Amino acid sequence: MTPLLQVEGLEVGYETGGGVFRRGGAGVRAVAGVDLALNAGEVLALVGESGCGKTTVARALVGLLRPSAGRIRFAGRDVEALGRDDRLAWRRAVQMVFQDPFDSLNPRKTALATLAQPLRIHRIVPRAELRREAARLLDRVGLSPGAAYLNRYPHQFSGGQRQRICIARAIAVRPQVIVADEPVSALDVSIRAQILTLFQELSRDLGLATIFITHDLTVVRSLSDRVAVMYLGRIVEEGPTDAVFALPRHPYTAALLAASPIPDPVLARRLLRRPLGGDVPSPADPPGGCAFHPRCAHAAAICGTQRPVPQPQPGGGMSACHFAADAPQWARPHDRILEEVS
Ligand code: SF4
Repeated sequence: MTPLLQVEGLEVGYETGGGVFRRGGAGVRAVAGVDLALNAGEVLALVGESGCGKTTVARALVGLLRPSAGRIRFAGRDVEALGRDDRLAWRRAVQMVFQDPFDSLNPRKTALATLAQPLRIHRIVPRAELRREAARLLDRVGLSPGAAYLNRYPHQFSGGQRQRICIARAIAVRPQVIVADEPVSALDVSIRAQILTLFQELSRDLGLATIFITHDLTVVRSLSDRVAVMYLGRIVEEGPTDAVFALPRHPYTAALLAASPIPDPVLARRLLRRPLGGDVPSPADPPGGCAFHPRCAHAAAICGTQRPVPQPQPGGGMSACHFAADAPQWARPHDRILEEVS
């Protein structure tokens, strides 16, 4: 089956003086060769620490950044080779929800104007239907009755309500894919669960494929079918979510899982936790060999000199670690830790 959205060898680089460099250019590679595939209706979580390149991948996927190398295919077609009309159809089919709902709405536009713009540009409904369609969209994202919210400006909404409007704007054009870049991290904790539930409902009801970018592994577990773990511009592990949580096959994934919060403070104190040390290195000066080796508890001599090639793993995933086959000896998945101490 042809994936709905496919990324092959994606690289995105920034010139040191600012701006994105084009093919053949030089500078800092924020994304250094990413392969991904998203099937129709699937939810893929893209996880990793800040600065690993997740947002850059997201922006390239929706056409906001131009790749320095590699290919993005939509429904099997290279998006760089699309003509004007097909390109517009791709931009319509792949929509983005941004991290900060405060910055991503125009403060001078009412909810009606915000929603009417994409409806008009992509000719989703006749002009006479714009108001009714905008109200229906607000209803769909939980701002009900939608008609009562149409004439309000962004400052008259709470953070959670603004993110609902951003989601309504994304689904207004009947997309096939939503790329959600940390869509709950700027919201109050009490609101996050509501927005996550909304994403789940929309994926299920509208058959949307979703790329959900997050650093919160508890979100990944509840929301995604597959997970891809990024480190310093590359995917280091990818696979079905249950398989990755059951037995992570890259030390970085294992470290992220071991560092994820445990709600019971008594239980948390009883756990022997080895926090992930140091920061993500600068992409301007990446370590040689395996980029994770300066922070890896399992690094050996080969790790400093040879970059591991991604290899298929039992369970249907892949790992870029020289010692992935030894995972049963060093991986202590979150679930197993909880079982051991309970
Ligand atoms: Fe650690 Fe070596 Fe595996 Fe890299 S290749 S994750 S340094 S064990």
